[in-house]
Amino acid sequence: MPLRGWRWTALGLLGKHGGNAARRRLAELERSQWLDPGAMEEYCRTQVARQLSFAARLVPFYQRRYGETESLSDYRPLTRLDLQSGFQELQSPLAQQRGAWKLSSSGSSGQVVTVLRDRQTQAWATACTWRGDCWGAPILPESRQLSLLSNVGNIVGSRRALSPLGTWLHNRYVLDAMRLTPQRVKELLERIAELRPQVLSGYPSVLLPVARIASSHGMLAPVLQKVIPTAESCSPEEAAELEQFFRVPVRQRYGSHEFSAMAHQCEAGRWHWHSEVIWPEVVRQDGSIGQSGRGSLLCTSLVNQSMPLIRYEIGDVVDLDSAACSCGRGLGSFSSIEGRTQEHVYCPDGSWISSHAFLAPLRSLPLLQFQLVQEMPDELLLRVVAQGPLEPRQAEWIQETYRQIHGGAFRLRIEQTDELERSPSGKLLRCINRLKRPELPSSSNSTT
Ligand SMILES: [Zn+2]
Repeated sequence: MPLRGWRWTALGLLGKHGGNAARRRLAELERSQWLDPGAMEEYCRTQVARQLSFAARLVPFYQRRYGETESLSDYRPLTRLDLQSGFQELQSPLAQQRGAWKLSSSGSSGQVVTVLRDRQTQAWATACTWRGDCWGAPILPESRQLSLLSNVGNIVGSRRALSPLGTWLHNRYVLDAMRLTPQRVKELLERIAELRPQVLSGYPSVLLPVARIASSHGMLAPVLQKVIPTAESCSPEEAAELEQFFRVPVRQRYGSHEFSAMAHQCEAGRWHWHSEVIWPEVVRQDGSIGQSGRGSLLCTSLVNQSMPLIRYEIGDVVDLDSAACSCGRGLGSFSSIEGRTQEHVYCPDGSWISSHAFLAPLRSLPLLQFQLVQEMPDELLLRVVAQGPLEPRQAEWIQETYRQIHGGAFRLRIEQTDELERSPSGKLLRCINRLKRPELPSSSNSTT
């Protein structure tokens, strides 16, 4: 269609997010994703070696710590604190040459971190987002996408970024989805129907209440091709609930402030890394570092040369797995992600329980949103948002279910409210733990 063609051409020429370079990267990524896993691994290992050699020669932080070594197994995990305190030393001379810019996080992880990004890195990031967003639905990178936002800062920021030209250029629209009531949901669905987006994206903490309120009031879903829950973790049960209401594939995107788009779910529902740009490893419970199994995620950027992050600890727990996927892509994969490692409840006996264990059973209740808070070693607070008052038998059911999970380690307070605590970027915090996080076991240098 001519309009699409014009938009695509204009985006290439004018787009601030890598423009033509991003389009070229996308073409490369479209091809490379079909490499067989062996060839993909070989390609990635070459990129890791190249990045390490670059860091050993040109990045003071790594030179000072590791000298001339170009072996990844010598590198210790890089923490947020390292990034904050070593910001200057982590830069390479290319940062200045390429006019790299600073990008600061929202602080949803509890700490604000700043990284450098240049146009080359940005082109890869944009191309990865375009590629993954198109998996599993008949859409194109320039297809119209509408985001439901729940935070004033995000809405103001997006509107500023999306000027009328930007809106047309990127074909991206945002709608304010704060304070959801049946009337507001009705208006939102009508507006979505008018704008006719092919993709609807948003935080699960916004998409789910919209779907729940709409379902319970007999409202129909707009015509879409795909729904992309972003930023917050969305369980398989929640994704199924969204799929039931919107009647289109629901596939998630996983990214971070430091690395942008890192993984997407394919049409088969499996998570794939954007392996051409990121080398994932985990620190397992026993402290060993490897490319398989469950543990705290470490990422090495294969494309950022202004500020190369090597074995950077993201703060999420993933289960890396190498089984082939029926979609045929040779990209690495993982089977689950548990969100920020602080999304845990710490038991008085020193053990941790994933907040998912406490939050998953609540999905069988007619609640709109919920949030688990731990402020004391032996007490949990559960905040819930519901359409009507919580019934005593529901509260009793929660108490009993939780007792089975924690074995009597906690008192539980249940509080019904209208608004839950969010991060500065507007993410709903599923689990807030105000206790000091017990230390992870110290990492060894072994690599498997
Ligand atoms: Zn797949």
